[in-house]
Amino acid sequence: MRMLRIMRTRFAPSPTGVLHVGGVRTALYAYLLAKQTKGQFLLRIEDTDQARSVPGTVENIINTLSWCGLTIDEGVTLRDGSITEIGKLGPYTQSKRLDLYKKNADQLVASGHAYPCFCTPERLDEMRKIQQAAKQAPMYDRQCLKLSKEDVAQKIAAGEKHVLRLKMPHEEKITFTDEIRGSLEFMGHLIDDQVLMKSDGFPTYHLAHVVDDHFMEIDMVIRGEEWLSSLPKHLVLFRALGWKAPRYAHLPLLLNLDRTKLSKRQGDVAADEYRQKGYLPEAMINFLALLGWNPGTEQEIFSCNELIEAFSLDRVQKAGAVFDLQKLDWLQGQWIRKLSLSEFAEKIQPFVMEKFPAALNDADFERKALLIQERMILLPEAAEMLSFFYAFTPPTADVLLNAKQGVTKDNVNMLKEVLVSSLSSLDAKKWNQESVEKVLMDALEKNDLKKGQLLWTLRALLTGKAFSPGAFEVATALGREETLKRLIS
Ligand code: GLU
Repeated sequence: MRMLRIMRTRFAPSPTGVLHVGGVRTALYAYLLAKQTKGQFLLRIEDTDQARSVPGTVENIINTLSWCGLTIDEGVTLRDGSITEIGKLGPYTQSKRLDLYKKNADQLVASGHAYPCFCTPERLDEMRKIQQAAKQAPMYDRQCLKLSKEDVAQKIAAGEKHVLRLKMPHEEKITFTDEIRGSLEFMGHLIDDQVLMKSDGFPTYHLAHVVDDHFMEIDMVIRGEEWLSSLPKHLVLFRALGWKAPRYAHLPLLLNLDRTKLSKRQGDVAADEYRQKGYLPEAMINFLALLGWNPGTEQEIFSCNELIEAFSLDRVQKAGAVFDLQKLDWLQGQWIRKLSLSEFAEKIQPFVMEKFPAALNDADFERKALLIQERMILLPEAAEMLSFFYAFTPPTADVLLNAKQGVTKDNVNMLKEVLVSSLSSLDAKKWNQESVEKVLMDALEKNDLKKGQLLWTLRALLTGKAFSPGAFEVATALGREETLKRLIS
């Protein structure tokens, strides 16, 4: 492993809804960098927009990260189902840190880097309309910056509602290097005087995350590219507070297949939906890691440990990454095949049991599971794929008769008889795939039949279905008695 400086990273979602797949990718990249450098991965909850906070979403965020195997070293976590916090630099929930934000905001005002603004929403609306009509970018016109000290003191004493705004240095060019985008340059006068403290006493994201990333000793901020345009404000804030800014990496957008921004309209964006659908966390992590990052080699299958080893920000692309579910399914297939038979059986058993309680005490469950491990994608599909073992319905004529395979209503009874007489000649003790195959092949030759004729008939009669694992495998797994019973019924 490369020797890298220890890095503390954080994932800082707002609990405004269930965790999206894009959020999991951000968390994953932050986790990989922390683990790669033997550093810490933090979870901070950014709940300063109280009106938009949705109950239950913190639990959803933590459970989803934990399902993905992204263990939190510090910050908000769950203990016995209740939200709790671990770590020395907390609290890690922004609504519990209001005093700290206020203290730093006051300091910014005292040092002349921030100022109170008493403009009403109506005035601001009016101002924006005028700017838009004049084809100017909407920006606060600094009316309140012109207020005298006395006016400000008087208004505050009178309890007038106000916010605090950052005073952007207009004369300055702000330069910075983003880990993914390279060098960037921002002109101070083009950047709005951001609201830092709202009139309800809550900070905005801009102030809160700067304060938190400083006090939580974050080395690298990994976040979505929607924050890139706010970066100059954040850099100015760090400097104004006398702190060293962390490094920043802004991740590319996730896109639908048609290259529009990933949206619910075109598929599931809630990460938990993928767990519910039966995707494996290994497949999900592997898939998300490759959304925007490439290893620079042909390797496509990565375990979490392999990702920790291989991941680097310099191989993250700037362009949006297409969320291609076919790729996810392919990776899922690969991860399903990598499971040992017992792991696989254990994972599918709950889904099968849900429909067929008999699967619970089925001593032969693994043998049945083996029949589908090579073919299935999503775990819940196992119930349908193995259903014929637990609830048998003989095939309809539509399924049984198959002209292409040479099974017709004129020869089907003869085929059935050939199957019964050849298989019943086989002793129960000798009932294994090899011997089943051998007696059937002999019967085929003796009766001058085509392979498809006999095998289709056998498979259809044993499973009742047009699609299932192969005839020999099914007959072997069912055993002699059940096989003959189904053939005769
Ligand atoms: N709370 C912000 C969000 O959910 C976090 C951005 C960041 O990671 O700094 O978008």
